[in-house]
Amino acid sequence: MIKRIHAKSILSPLTNKGFDPFGIAYNMNIYRGCQHQCIYCDSRSACYQIENFADILIKENAIDLLKQELSAKRKKQTIGTGSMNDPYMPIEEELGLTRQALELIYRYQFPVHIITKSNMVVRDIDLLRNISKIYAAVSFTITTNDDELSRKLEPGAPVSSERFEAMKVLSAAGIYTGIIISPVLPWITDSVENITELLHHAHQVGAKYALAWPGLTQRHGQREWFYDKLDKYFPGIKEKYIDMFGNTYECDSPNAEAINKAYYQICSKLRFATQMNFYKPVDPQMNLF
Ligand code: SF4
Repeated sequence: MIKRIHAKSILSPLTNKGFDPFGIAYNMNIYRGCQHQCIYCDSRSACYQIENFADILIKENAIDLLKQELSAKRKKQTIGTGSMNDPYMPIEEELGLTRQALELIYRYQFPVHIITKSNMVVRDIDLLRNISKIYAAVSFTITTNDDELSRKLEPGAPVSSERFEAMKVLSAAGIYTGIIISPVLPWITDSVENITELLHHAHQVGAKYALAWPGLTQRHGQREWFYDKLDKYFPGIKEKYIDMFGNTYECDSPNAEAINKAYYQICSKLRFATQMNFYKPVDPQMNLF
């Protein structure tokens, strides 16, 4: 079901002072719920209090709010989108709210980092080129090189090969792009072979960085949904998860050591950055010269 809601704010400051792999100061979520329906999605965890993750809530005043909030900020810091839902889920094609948000972000000269599983981001290549004069990064989450498997894991999202193709187009246009390999699912996508293929494929299409974490997180609400899908698509695997992880939040792959080793070796060989370059504010004094 698709519903419209009135939001109180659109940019949430990131309060976590710990390690931030994405260099984001504000999170922007125009939608709630996500049509991609990935079987492992953390955003459906009970702690986020989303009644039904299949419902898509559209923040109908998102663009007005963004305009107000951007115009009130004196410091230009990176706006991130894509952590709680995908800004390019199918409904975006019809509504174009992410595009309107990017127009404002450019008008107010803010840096942006987009995380997506959709090739729809290519639609906004003109805006991303413009924002790149400040800073724009597009990270594609791709968990498997196998399209059939990606259909099972991420049923509402374009398949992996379409994401690689989009990465190629953006990269060829000079937009800073990279791959996020996460989650890495124990007994499903946690082979060294899978990680190797993903890294080589991303490198071939022009990605500049690769971020990977060899495992997944699981919380109440998310876990039950995931286990249900494991039973449906990967019989026998749920029992291994229960035995190995119980109610653990951070679930490292039993193959984590080998994956990490391969990841760093391949990244070093391909000259792939294992961290992103973040936006660096320009010193106004430097502009005098
Ligand atoms: S794209 Fe991200 S937010 Fe959307 S369902 Fe998949 S994991 Fe969840």
